[in-house]
Amino acid sequence: MKLPIAARPQVISRFWAVIRRFPKLIATVLVFQVVASLIVVATPWLIGRLLDLIVAGTTRAEVTRYLIIIGVLVAAQLLLTYLGEYFSRVFGQAVFAQLREDLVNSVTHMPLSVVEAAGTGDLIGRTTHDIDRIQYLVQRGIYRIIMIVLTALVTYVAAFLLAPMLALLLLVPLIPLMFIVRWYLRRAVPGYQAESAQWATLSGITTETVEQHSTVDALDLRRVRNNILDVAITQIWNLERYTAYLRIFLLSAVIFFLQTPALLVAMAGAWAIPNGYATLGVVTTIALYGVQLSHPLGELSFWVDVLQSAATSLARIFGVDEVESDRVASGKQPTSTAVSAHEVSFEYRPGHPVLHGVDLELRPGETLAIVGPSGAGKSTLGRMIAGIHPPTSGSVTVGGVPLVELTENELHQNVALVTQEHHVFVGTIADNLRLAKPDATVEQMWHVLKSMGAASWVQELSDGLDTKVGSGALTLSPAQAQQLALARIVLMNPHTLILDEATSLMDPTAARQLERSLGKALEGRTVVAIAHRLYTAHDADRVAVMVDGRIVELGRHDQLVARGGEYASLWRAWQHE
Ligand code: ADP
Repeated sequence: MKLPIAARPQVISRFWAVIRRFPKLIATVLVFQVVASLIVVATPWLIGRLLDLIVAGTTRAEVTRYLIIIGVLVAAQLLLTYLGEYFSRVFGQAVFAQLREDLVNSVTHMPLSVVEAAGTGDLIGRTTHDIDRIQYLVQRGIYRIIMIVLTALVTYVAAFLLAPMLALLLLVPLIPLMFIVRWYLRRAVPGYQAESAQWATLSGITTETVEQHSTVDALDLRRVRNNILDVAITQIWNLERYTAYLRIFLLSAVIFFLQTPALLVAMAGAWAIPNGYATLGVVTTIALYGVQLSHPLGELSFWVDVLQSAATSLARIFGVDEVESDRVASGKQPTSTAVSAHEVSFEYRPGHPVLHGVDLELRPGETLAIVGPSGAGKSTLGRMIAGIHPPTSGSVTVGGVPLVELTENELHQNVALVTQEHHVFVGTIADNLRLAKPDATVEQMWHVLKSMGAASWVQELSDGLDTKVGSGALTLSPAQAQQLALARIVLMNPHTLILDEATSLMDPTAARQLERSLGKALEGRTVVAIAHRLYTAHDADRVAVMVDGRIVELGRHDQLVARGGEYASLWRAWQHE
């Protein structure tokens, strides 16, 4: 499965919507640009006028006056360019920051099932390579494009007002250029799209290799992984070379055609001036306009190119938003804290169900252990009950409301899942805890740390709660990280909690201790503990035994042992381990 890519009209309207959020900055930038382009046009006109005056035999004082005005205008232009550039960069940064924020927001709200199915490579590609690709356009390009288009328009209008026939000559090279740009775009756009997709593949391969480095080492896969990387890099190289050739062709054509207008005007002038159709000053002004236009128009073709490659990246960035949400908030509020699963079935891949119509009523406040052989579907059921994945059919409800009808916020206030994946976020210990409850007080944080048995080691850290942890700072042991993750959940305070081997990284004694203290901290909460150590089941109020995606036994520990079924044999086998 691939993540969606936004269509061109959506890209344009979405990008416009982002830009429009900064009306004051746009207005400031535009004012500076319009004034600057008027000055750009005025200078050649004054030079032309001056030439005509000199030919007519004007006074030295008049010439000096003109030269002073031209000097002042050039100085004003410098100042305006500086200010214009300054505000444009501020504007570019603001737009870029907004785009990044929007992207992070969409990525973090994406259904987990989609992320898993699409692979993280594509998503990482979009948040890194594609973002980098649009950065230059957004920070520099938008401003330059506005500037160039405005200057060109003002220049053409001025030229037509001054001498329409000569001004027509300025337009001549635009005709072949339009064809060349169209030819180019038809080839470059698919080229850039293929490049972006290939970069995503490459980042997928790289991340996978780095994340799974121990497997790569253990199975001696280094050469295999290198070969895969080599193939991907070669493909990128070929694609980049193809688009580079296209760019070289475009630029050469642009440079050639943009040199022609000044020449054409000069040649026309050689005929027009002696015949009295135009003065030397007018021909000079128009020729200067031609020279003046060649640089920005050349630059524009460069920006058209950047714009194309940015547009493909933007389509991928905005595409993230088009992933359909797997839940729709209905506004209904749960009437109780009772969580139950009705006829829940689930397929990771279509046609391969791993849960078959599971029914389970949790009693508020109980601890229910789910046990069973590996691959039986325990984790999958846990994720259904926690609302991480919506069931393929059937439903999981809390207080009568299906979990998929709650907002993410409401969902986490009701149920939460703790797994053995214990990520420590870069930041302080307090930051890590406040992720769950932004307004948690210091006392509350110490309280939950104490209840998880973590207060003692946090106290010993140099900065206590303010100690920086995570990648690049203090590295916590897996057990400490797990305590922190659990403390976070206790702080979040959901009434139902699913622990999926949440204590598996600790030694059995510490784990049992933690589970007991967790039990105390969660007094009155409903806990579903997916367990591979059967004492968890022994300590629980009820035990559900799962085999092949079905609950085959459900009852109290001693009842199930007495029954002599699946659980009894698991229990016997475990005790003899
Ligand atoms: P348990 O927790 O009992 O070991 P799981 O719920 O993890 O079982 O897995 C149940 C079945 O679903 C297994 O056959 C497993 O291979 C499959 N499965 C688990 N996770 C995924 C996934 N992300 N994609 C595809 N299949 C999966």
